[in-house]
Amino acid sequence: MSFFIPDHVYELMRVLNENGFECFIVGGAVRNYLLQIPVHDYDLTTNALPEEMLEVFRSYHTIRTGLQHGTLTVMNHHYPVEITTYRKDTGYKDHRHPDQVIFTSALKEDCMRRDFTVNALCFHPDTGIIDFFGGQEDLKNRIIRCIGSAEDRFNEDALRILRAIRFSSRLDFRIEEKTAEAVIKLKRSLVYISRERIHDEFNGILEGKGCAKLLDAYRSVIEEFIPGLKSLSAEQWAEHMACIDRSPCSYTVRAATLLRTMPDPKGILQELKYSGQEIRTVTDMIRNASLDLSSRASVRQALRILSVPFADYVQFRKACDPALDTDAVLALYDIIRTNNDACTLKDLDINGTDLKEAGLSGKQIGTALNFLLDQVIEEKVPNKKEALLAYLSQHFF
Ligand code: ATP
Ligand code: MG
Repeated sequence: MSFFIPDHVYELMRVLNENGFECFIVGGAVRNYLLQIPVHDYDLTTNALPEEMLEVFRSYHTIRTGLQHGTLTVMNHHYPVEITTYRKDTGYKDHRHPDQVIFTSALKEDCMRRDFTVNALCFHPDTGIIDFFGGQEDLKNRIIRCIGSAEDRFNEDALRILRAIRFSSRLDFRIEEKTAEAVIKLKRSLVYISRERIHDEFNGILEGKGCAKLLDAYRSVIEEFIPGLKSLSAEQWAEHMACIDRSPCSYTVRAATLLRTMPDPKGILQELKYSGQEIRTVTDMIRNASLDLSSRASVRQALRILSVPFADYVQFRKACDPALDTDAVLALYDIIRTNNDACTLKDLDINGTDLKEAGLSGKQIGTALNFLLDQVIEEKVPNKKEALLAYLSQHFF
C-alpha cells in the first residue's frame, strides 16, 4: 500500500524541498490513509518561516489569514492547501487558544503540540511515516490517547475534550484510560468553549459509528452543555441509547432521537447555536413523532404536515420503534409518488383564485382548500377542478 499524494499537494512539498525546507503531510490525512478511509484534506507542516513561505510561493495565489499563527493557504490547481510552520504553543490562559505561538525548527516539537497520538503522524515519500508518540500502535489498537499528560492538554484547550469523544465516535476507537479520566475530570472547562464549536463537535459525535457507546460513557460530559438530559431516568436514557444505536449516522435524526422527550428541544438547539434549518428539521421530526403511517391516506396526511424529507423521518421513526414495518411504509410512499397523489395544498387542482371567483373570501379560502385536500386524501372526491368546485358547493356552503 503506497501513500497516494495528489499532484497539487506533492508539487508544493517539492517546491519547499527544492528551496531547502522540510515539509511533511501531517494529521488527519496520514491517520486516514493508515486506516484506509477516505482522505478529504491534506495539511502540510514545514520548517519554513511564514515570510520564507511567502517568498517560496510568491508566484502562487496565497491567502494569508492565518499567517500570524504560521499558516499560509496556497492555491494550487484551484485547491487550497494549508501549510503551517512548525510551532510550539504556550500559554492558553483562555483554555482554548495559545497566548503565544513560537516557531521552531524541530518537527518533533510541532508534533508535541498536537492533540492525540493518532493525529501527530507525519509522512514524506522519502522518509515514510514519522511517528514520535506511538500513533501507529494506537491506530492498530484503535485508541485515542493524548500526547503527554491528558490533564495538561485538556487544561490548555478544553475543545480537545470533545475532540477526543468525536474522534472516538467517528473512528469507533476507545479512549485510553488516563485520557478518559481527564475527559470526565475536566468536563467543567467546556464552559470556556464557544457554543458554535460545541455545536460542530457534538454533531461530529452524533454522526459517528460509536455514538451511542460514547454518549453513554460520557453522559455527564454531554450534560455539561445539555443540562436538560439530567432529567432522564436511567431507563429512559438506556432506551434513548438503544434508539440511537439503531439509527443511521445522521446527526439530525440522532439529535431528534436524543431530545425527543425533552420539554423544550428547540430551546436546547438554539442554545447550541443550531441553524434555523437544523432546528426545523429536528423539531419537525420530534413534533410529529407519532403520526399514523399504516395506510396510503395516513402517509399522505403525514407528507402534508412534514417538512423534513420523508426518508429521514422514516429512519427516525424506525430508530424509535424497531417494530415499524418500514418496507410497508416506503411501499406506500412509492405508490403515492408514482401516482402523483396530492398531499399538499399546492398539489390540488384548485387554488385560492379559483375559490375567490367562486365567491369565497378571506379566511374561508384557506379553510375550504384544507377541507378539499382532506377529502381528496380520503378519496371522497377526485383531484379535478370541476369535481372539487361541485363538491364544495354540496358540502361546504
Ligand atoms: P478531520 O478528519 O476531522 O479533519 P483532522 O485530524 O484533520 O481530522 P483537524 O481539526 O482538521 O483534524 O486538525 C488537523 C490537525 O491539527 C489534527 O490532526 C491535529 O494534529 C491538529 N489539531 C487540530 N485541532 C487541535 C487542537 N485543538 N489541539 C491540538 N491539535 C489540534
Ligand atoms: Mg482536517
